[in-house]
Amino acid sequence: MSYSLPEFLAHAIALEREAAERYLELADMMESYRNDEVSQLFRDMVRYSNMHHDSIVERAKGIALPALRSWQYRWRQPPEVGGEEAFDPGLNAYDALRYARENEIRARDYYVQAGKESSDAEVQRLAAEFAAEEAEHVQALEEWLARTPRPSATWEHDPDRSGAA
Ligand code: ZN
Repeated sequence: MSYSLPEFLAHAIALEREAAERYLELADMMESYRNDEVSQLFRDMVRYSNMHHDSIVERAKGIALPALRSWQYRWRQPPEVGGEEAFDPGLNAYDALRYARENEIRARDYYVQAGKESSDAEVQRLAAEFAAEEAEHVQALEEWLARTPRPSATWEHDPDRSGAA
């Protein structure tokens, strides 16, 4: 879909707000497990998402934004997690990080795609900037994943490993 600037801004604002809300849930969950390090990481992500959200709102000042009828870039729950709105309260740090990473990748790809498909120069410029920020988030989560022990209980159900011998 080729976005106009107001459409693009409306989606970007919704995407960042969604990310901030989900990160806050994850941060609270990790805190309840006394996993302070990962909780702190997610709180940092809340802060970044809020800052990003606020700067996009600022950029959108004076522009009439369309109401989004359906919002398809909500965070996607992993298939094994029941319920649309809440995280599995048993989510461990590794799965929480992996899950966040997948959603950051979707956000990055979304911005890349939006920039590619729009003929509006400002949308292209902003989309490239936002995609770069999401790529940094993906990178931060990759680094955390690399030093977070993978829980053995979920090992065999790991979709990353399906097809492996
Ligand atoms: Zn992000």
